[in-house]
Amino acid sequence: MPTRSLPTKEDVIRHYMYLTEEVKSIEDKTRLSVQGKNHAFDEIGKVVTDIWNRSGIPILDQKNLRTRIQRLVQSKEIEYMNKNAKKLALDEEYMRKTKAHYQQLFDVAYCQCFSSTTTLKKMKPGECTCPEAMKIPLQDYRFYFDQRTLRNDAISCYLDRTTSNEQKFQLELMQLRPS
Ligand SMILES: [Zn+2]
Repeated sequence: MPTRSLPTKEDVIRHYMYLTEEVKSIEDKTRLSVQGKNHAFDEIGKVVTDIWNRSGIPILDQKNLRTRIQRLVQSKEIEYMNKNAKKLALDEEYMRKTKAHYQQLFDVAYCQCFSSTTTLKKMKPGECTCPEAMKIPLQDYRFYFDQRTLRNDAISCYLDRTTSNEQKFQLELMQLRPS
């Protein structure tokens, strides 16, 4: 799992595979037990929560988060990919599309008001209908948008903001504030 940025779908799936292999080897079994799976979902939930908490963006509650993780790692598509890995590896177009899809943010923000917004400017605070405590903080708008798109930024506690960058950031923040 990454530490400086928010995890992608691929990060979550890889972590699940890693954890389940580990469990299988401990239990000395070829098939994963229900407990083994549940353990993996919980572990991933903890790691994902930990990383998002560093960003300051409120996320889904534990129950919903777990459901999201489960739905992702046990999806029909993942099952299909695992079964047909060799054949699919030769299909360049499929691989390209799939890679692009799974390299997207595993978005577990509570606020989904902007989950399909295409530019940062269109993220208008007034359009968020979430309870106050669950809103994406204004100072995290840029980071959240970046994580959903280009994924260049690091979680702010890892940022070494130079003066010019900081001024630019504050300026962008001003533009986001409702007038
Ligand atoms: Zn919202």
